[in-house]
Amino acid sequence: MQTEYSGTGSVNAIRKILKKEKPKSVFLVTGKFSYEKTGIRSKIQPLVSHCKITHFADFSVNPSIGDIKKGIALFRKSKCDFVIAAGGGSVIDIAKAINIFSPQKLTPEKYLQKKLPIERKGKKLLAIPTTAGTGSEATHFAVVYIGKEKYSISHQRFLLPEYVILDPALSFSLPPHITACTGMDALAQAIESYWSVHSTGESKKYSRKAIRLVLDNLRTAVMSPTQKARAAMMRAANNSGKAINIAYTTACHSISYPLTSYFGVPHGHAVALTLGEMFLFNTAVRKEDCLDARGEKYVSKTMKELARLFGENSPEGVCEKLKSTMDSINLERRLVQVGVITEQDIHIIIKNGFNQDRIKNNPRRLTETSLRQILRNIK
Ligand code: NAD
Repeated sequence: MQTEYSGTGSVNAIRKILKKEKPKSVFLVTGKFSYEKTGIRSKIQPLVSHCKITHFADFSVNPSIGDIKKGIALFRKSKCDFVIAAGGGSVIDIAKAINIFSPQKLTPEKYLQKKLPIERKGKKLLAIPTTAGTGSEATHFAVVYIGKEKYSISHQRFLLPEYVILDPALSFSLPPHITACTGMDALAQAIESYWSVHSTGESKKYSRKAIRLVLDNLRTAVMSPTQKARAAMMRAANNSGKAINIAYTTACHSISYPLTSYFGVPHGHAVALTLGEMFLFNTAVRKEDCLDARGEKYVSKTMKELARLFGENSPEGVCEKLKSTMDSINLERRLVQVGVITEQDIHIIIKNGFNQDRIKNNPRRLTETSLRQILRNIK
């Protein structure tokens, strides 16, 4: 069960939560620069000042195993009894990972690589997103990189934060490019969870809500942000998180990981790059390559529903709309523009883009040949 506070000023609910939980020692995870520079510190610090605080901010974006181990050492030393994560998806994921790995007997690699079962629960966690994209505050998984390889830790009962604060004011300081990348992540999560083989009536409801909110508000949030657009994007991201928490992400996310780890493309931008082409690919599903147990007719119906959500009658129309959305928020759409230039670069993506956790959720089987064609189409 998760308790959620939302709306401008809801950050003040920290006080209420701490009063209820009465922690003696709080482990606070934040971004290194964004916490100081964006004014988030001045909003959060006074609300936690009466507690013993161990502040962990010494890590870079996209959680790495080295940073997580540093955090675990500090966490254990702090003897904390409550965790607060205030930041983007990277901050929330690193807090989730530190919190779940700290009480375990073995090293994090054993649980990530060997998929050993997690046996002990961490402390209660309050997640406060300051980007509007990942919805990590609403999911029971966290992303971790070991070297350039991406792993996911997932636990139905131990990873979902107990408390969430969705205060759009904390996202006002987001610069246009980060707003654009993170907003496209929310859109990709909503679309992918909608066509995922694990979609349900409930996940589709969250996806629909997120798609409508992004289509109506992302451009404004990036180009001339209003409080209303920021608030809508924060709701969109949270709904997309709730959708993937049930239905998971699919091929676009799988292909995105090497784009991020080998070419430094921000996560949301990386997932957006193949979204339009994957829309065309999945719409052409046939009985022989359908991975959804509900059958290819069900998938075709799902793709038509998605097109209607975009106000379009054809998959080509959706693809064009996705392109114009990216153009309107100044996100490059072509691989060469993000540093994927040579055949060797394409090979790296193909070699590392078949993440088994994600690719098997795609409604149509993706082969190496079809991925190569998709990448050529956006080169
Ligand atoms: P991020 O957390 O990596 O942050 C991007 C940048 O934005 C950073 O430089 C950060 O300092 C800055 N920033 C954050 N808040 C700001 C603010 N209010 N003002 C100004 N700058 C601010 O970006 P993200 O897209 O939120 O997170 C990406 C990570 O989340 C990836 O590692 C991805 O794999 C992971 N993810 C996790 C889940 C999940 O369910 N666990 C889902 C999607 C993505």
